[in-house]
Amino acid sequence: MSDNQALIYQSELDFISRCVMDYPDSETGGDFFGSFTRDGKIKIEYVIGPGINTNRTQHSFFQDIDYLKSCGSLLHNKFGLQHIGAWHSHHRLSLYQPSSGDINTMKNALQNGNLPLFLISICNIDRNNSVVISPFMFTRNNSVNYIPYKWQVLQGISPFREKLSREGINLFTEPKSDVSSSRINIEVKDDNSIQKPLMPSDSYWKTDVGKNLLKETYESLQHRNHVSEVEILQKKDNRIAIRFKLSGLVHEMILPHNFPNQPIEVSILSNEQVFSQIEIPLKKQRHFPSDMDVVLRFIEKKFRKKLF
Ligand SMILES: [Zn+2]
Repeated sequence: MSDNQALIYQSELDFISRCVMDYPDSETGGDFFGSFTRDGKIKIEYVIGPGINTNRTQHSFFQDIDYLKSCGSLLHNKFGLQHIGAWHSHHRLSLYQPSSGDINTMKNALQNGNLPLFLISICNIDRNNSVVISPFMFTRNNSVNYIPYKWQVLQGISPFREKLSREGINLFTEPKSDVSSSRINIEVKDDNSIQKPLMPSDSYWKTDVGKNLLKETYESLQHRNHVSEVEILQKKDNRIAIRFKLSGLVHEMILPHNFPNQPIEVSILSNEQVFSQIEIPLKKQRHFPSDMDVVLRFIEKKFRKKLF
């Protein structure tokens, strides 16, 4: 392996971005086909997206295996390409690294499969609706979980994509989104974004009811028109937080592990510093999240009182 770089055509990065933008609020993904260069670099020649029978949720993605197999045999028989990696989207979760679940999946796959290495790419949609695409190398015999890679971009369209489209082979699914911009080789700093959900085992947010509530809250906030930039984070102390912009101000709602027995704290942040803080009284929390308007109105009123 040389220089921790992977080769990829610009057309393939564009393809991934469009696939990611098709599902801005849930995971989606696909696979990498390619080869190795003479100096041992991994080269991605052709990227596929999700098959029709894919299973996806906000926090998981399972490729349509029949689709993967059909694409794999066509690309192998026709061009000798190998299945050398996969990509999936963490949409707006701000989780730029492989999650603990991703690491476990890869460990098992490498132990049980016949591949000694696999390139995984994690995609995120940033605040400007650009897709950040980051590669990570997983190898069977390694003391670390993965090695962050960088893309070396080959300009233009993959010759394999060109050939397949000229021949009009209609096996491959195409993304619907046509506008995309991608960002690559971004240094992602370890901030207080979710690395992996490290929570006490008795955390309310680990239960099915809690997970559902978190999802509903996230979705409910996303669908309010004076709320924007909704993100789920994990604080350094492992508490879950939902960050969003309300009336132009960055709010962070910190959800206690023993919800609903302890109040939710809400902060207004300015330059990542807590600027003002309130608590949502327990009796108001019963509106959470089914009547988010009541909760948001309360938050705004309470802050207004504090600030003015
Ligand atoms: Zn993941």
